[in-house]
Amino acid sequence: MQLRAAKEPLRLEDLPIPTPGERQVLIRVSVCAVCRTDLHIVSGELSEPKLPLVIGHMIVGRVEGAGDRAHRFGPGERVGVPWLGSVDETCRFCRRGLENLCVNARFTGYHVDGGYAEYCVADERFCFRLPESYADLHAAPLLCAGLIGYRALRLAGDAQRVGLYGFGDSAHIIAQVARYQGRRVFAFTSPGDTEKQEFARSLGAEWAGDSTSPPPEPLDAALIFAPVGALVPAALKALDPGGIVVCAGIHMSDIPSFSYDLLWMERQIRSVANLTRRDGEELLQIAPKVPVRTEVQPYPLAEANTALDDLAHGRFRGAAVLTVGS
Ligand SMILES: [Zn+2]
Ligand SMILES: [Zn+2]
Repeated sequence: MQLRAAKEPLRLEDLPIPTPGERQVLIRVSVCAVCRTDLHIVSGELSEPKLPLVIGHMIVGRVEGAGDRAHRFGPGERVGVPWLGSVDETCRFCRRGLENLCVNARFTGYHVDGGYAEYCVADERFCFRLPESYADLHAAPLLCAGLIGYRALRLAGDAQRVGLYGFGDSAHIIAQVARYQGRRVFAFTSPGDTEKQEFARSLGAEWAGDSTSPPPEPLDAALIFAPVGALVPAALKALDPGGIVVCAGIHMSDIPSFSYDLLWMERQIRSVANLTRRDGEELLQIAPKVPVRTEVQPYPLAEANTALDDLAHGRFRGAAVLTVGS
């Protein structure tokens, strides 16, 4: 499925099988989960995609070929491909262990073709081995929804009372990880979305309610997964002194102005950008121990536009996953 220009639907096209370059593997795609970032690319809110482009960056597939100096995976081996496609390993951020901020980072399904396709190529150094206990369909959402959510949770430090704003693909995974780590989970959904609130409680949230209502007690951290800037002051209001708001999305509507009182008492606001390979390795080790159960809504590859539209309108629970070759 190919994006020709922003704001246009993806088009089903016959594309040649790509040739793996140096350090790249050729992957026959089995499934690819759908991310809110994909929506932001299609709608033009992320302004620098390669065009035409195959989007998709939660790819599970099997290695079918290898380029020069690519020896990490054998033929037929299952791999996962995340958003971080490659880095330069030399810039000031890479040298400090912050490869997620690399000035020359290339992202899967944005700068390079991704997984809404039968085949893709990926730099083997950025691919993950996946826990065997997960079928392809259920492993895919771990690769961005899970990873970014995990990084957001990690940046919340030792927060005990964690609020999750927007109970979609990321939050439904991270609620389970947070509970496993002994934290308390409070889930916030769009006002009146009692079905998602019930879903959150079934995954260990001790309270679930509307994003407009206060939690029953102050929070130590609020992780915002919905792309709604108005949630930032709302989440700040829910924080105990010293608490932190972590914005996990790549794009958000403008944040309305708010009184300094909300930030006072050492409350913090920060964002989470991309992922490091360490985040991925950590989450993929923890997930089978929890064990994280991913709820998926499968769609055939050709129905990618429907999947994106359903995501935009919150029409399913958990994560949408495109089935390609499985
Ligand atoms: Zn993503
Ligand atoms: Zn770098």
